[in-house]
Amino acid sequence: MLDKVVIANRGEIALRILRACKEMGIKTVAVYSKADRDLLHVRLADQAVCIGPAASKDSYLNIPALISAAEVTDAQGIHPGYGFLAENADFAEAVEKSGFTFIGPRAESIRLMGNKVSAIEAMKKAGVPTVPGSDGPVTEETAVAVAKRIGLPVIIKAASGGGGRGMRVVHQESEVLSALSITRSEAGAAFGDDTVYMEKFLQHPRHVEIQVIGDGEGKAIHLGDRDCSLQRRHQKVVEEAPAPGIPEHSRQAVYAACIKACELMKYRGAGTFEFLYEDENFYFIEMNTRVQVEHPVTEMITGVDIIQEQLRVASGLGLSVTQDDIVIRGHAIECRINAEDPKTFMPCPGKVNYYHAPGGPGIRMDSHLYSGYSVPPNYDSLIGKLIAFGPTREIALQRTRNALDEIVIDGIRSNIALHRDVILKDPGFIAGGVDIHHLEKKLGLS
Ligand code: ADP
Repeated sequence: MLDKVVIANRGEIALRILRACKEMGIKTVAVYSKADRDLLHVRLADQAVCIGPAASKDSYLNIPALISAAEVTDAQGIHPGYGFLAENADFAEAVEKSGFTFIGPRAESIRLMGNKVSAIEAMKKAGVPTVPGSDGPVTEETAVAVAKRIGLPVIIKAASGGGGRGMRVVHQESEVLSALSITRSEAGAAFGDDTVYMEKFLQHPRHVEIQVIGDGEGKAIHLGDRDCSLQRRHQKVVEEAPAPGIPEHSRQAVYAACIKACELMKYRGAGTFEFLYEDENFYFIEMNTRVQVEHPVTEMITGVDIIQEQLRVASGLGLSVTQDDIVIRGHAIECRINAEDPKTFMPCPGKVNYYHAPGGPGIRMDSHLYSGYSVPPNYDSLIGKLIAFGPTREIALQRTRNALDEIVIDGIRSNIALHRDVILKDPGFIAGGVDIHHLEKKLGLS
């Protein structure tokens, strides 16, 4: 087992990784920017190293500083968490070349999945269902013909895109070429790669994703699915597991294909296959080669600690469970708590005068907040995740409501009221199975 690990992240996920390490007897090194001295996990870690100024590019994205932190503390592994450098193949490579263990997939898997055109190609080989599309890049010469073949509306997407950026929907044939050239130049500027491809634009899909873990030797298991359709501007707001109302034969078929894809690339560590789901069909859109924000809902229904499995696999110990050990039990719901203005959704950092975490059966609060903590303005606005487990979806929903009534975050604005007064009272969400446009429609945003 790894003896000491650098946690190359901040906030709730850094604390989550620290907790997993402590449970496994692994020593921890927190790295922090000058704006983050007061983070909870920095206080709890065995060692802490300041890696630079507040700006992410000078600290959490600073590869030499992170590797130096591992060197000076004699750590063996680096856990990237999510965001920042978690899906940066150059970082994974630099970590391993410097003699440390990257707690994540091999750089080649990250690279393969980081380019959506190569990812889709790999999925097709494994029999994972994809969106009808261009089967590779589109150019000025091919675009109109491809759009006609697929059938409008289509979506033009940047091969290296991410974070919901670099996409454009086209409804009319006459708009194909101009949309292509705009998406191309935006993609070139934003991602340094102007390759674009085309897919059928699905009108009312749900977002359903599948959690996998591979041992890096060719064996992999799945931990079931999650529904993350409640989104605003492509950002997930509420997630749940399992995804409601999916026929068993559809989900089993797609699980098998995801496992096959992992086996083919000898996938190492945790990963997520993201799908759009419409009319009982799954359509692969991308794979995330890291632990995800919403991983706890899967942990609650499987009993598997995904971060600990990542640490085991990285240590060369293999997975602690087999597919046959995985039994999906009950239902779990996660509300992302953001420090944001309830009306404008703009980030609202500031001092938390008083924080009270909810409790009771099935409640898990993953948050780095404490009374007196100041949320810095420099980073993502996620300040916590409220996760509620129940033997049934109804009980999970009611426990979520109870917990939202109990939680107190005084001093800064947050989206708690959005969860409590809008989402958890919404008949569509309560019934289950809404599409990815549901929340924006409900909020009058689309
Ligand atoms: P990113 O890496 O930027 O998150 P994705 O490929 O995962 O990009 O797509 C992000 C979101 O864009 C999806 O969750 C969905 O809302 C929308 N989207 C992407 N492809 C399609 C499609 N073919 N049809 C309809 N919506 C799509």
